[in-house]
Amino acid sequence: MDLGIKGKTAIVCAASKGLGRGCAEALAEAGVNLVINARTESTLVETAAAIAAKYGVSVTPVACDISTAEGQAKILAVCPNPDILVNNAGGPPPGMWSDWDRDDFIKALDANMLAPIAMMKAVLPSMIDKGWGRVVNITSQSVKSPIAVLGLSNSARAGLTGYVGGTSRQVAPYGVTINNMLPGNHATDRIASLDQGVSSAQGISMDEATAQRVETIPARRYGTSAEFGAMCAFLCSQHAGYIVGQNILLDGGSVNSTM
Ligand code: NAP
Repeated sequence: MDLGIKGKTAIVCAASKGLGRGCAEALAEAGVNLVINARTESTLVETAAAIAAKYGVSVTPVACDISTAEGQAKILAVCPNPDILVNNAGGPPPGMWSDWDRDDFIKALDANMLAPIAMMKAVLPSMIDKGWGRVVNITSQSVKSPIAVLGLSNSARAGLTGYVGGTSRQVAPYGVTINNMLPGNHATDRIASLDQGVSSAQGISMDEATAQRVETIPARRYGTSAEFGAMCAFLCSQHAGYIVGQNILLDGGSVNSTM
């Protein structure tokens, strides 16, 4: 399927690895020129070169922390008027409700709620002027079904979801769509570190921790960054203009609900 976005420009945040990279690769395959971001410059530059070589698009790496105002400004200075914005950042650490204080919440809110809101606020006006734009936020299945040990994530992502629910309806009249993608368990460094946490807490091996988690997923496997990226590219395509303010689960059936 021709996604109809060849030649457009996208900012993909937190994209040197994992789900963000999956989104960047799928957009590049559709002919979109990219500005990609992550904190570790060496990995980011390597990823940018690999994507540019594979898909023949321009890929500009911007090394910075997306959760900071300086980081956001650095990316926007390179690409002030993207056609497409994919918001992403690392997820907060697991713990117990009694562990977290104000500073922990502020860090989680900065990364997983306030950074995507700031990026949207910066790029929506030019998308509205052009009469076309696509925003995709990577959130989590925890928006639909809380994951108790990820209370910081549950809280920050719920805030972003509420913001998108209203804002997406305000920008839709101008041909701009905002949607959220909700990953369940995907085979990335993030899930490996969560499995490592289970392994240490329960005194079991990594393989046992992974097998234990996979057993809870109806699809009986972890998702891949490539299939996650394919959905992102579709949401950013010409074909997705009527999909507005949705929360799309990619979770192998993990969230047990009828709708
Ligand atoms: P990942 O494999 O750990 O990759 C994270 C990427 O984000 C890396 O490129 C990392 O590079 C970059 N990054 C992290 N913090 C950043 C920051 N502050 N500023 C800029 N770049 C940053 O993670 P993932 O599995 O792809 O997860 C992506 C998001 O989806 C996370 O918020 C995660 O919580 C959420 N999620 C993931 C899963 C899953 O199963 N994988 C499930 C639910 C939700 P640097 O470290 O070099 O910055």
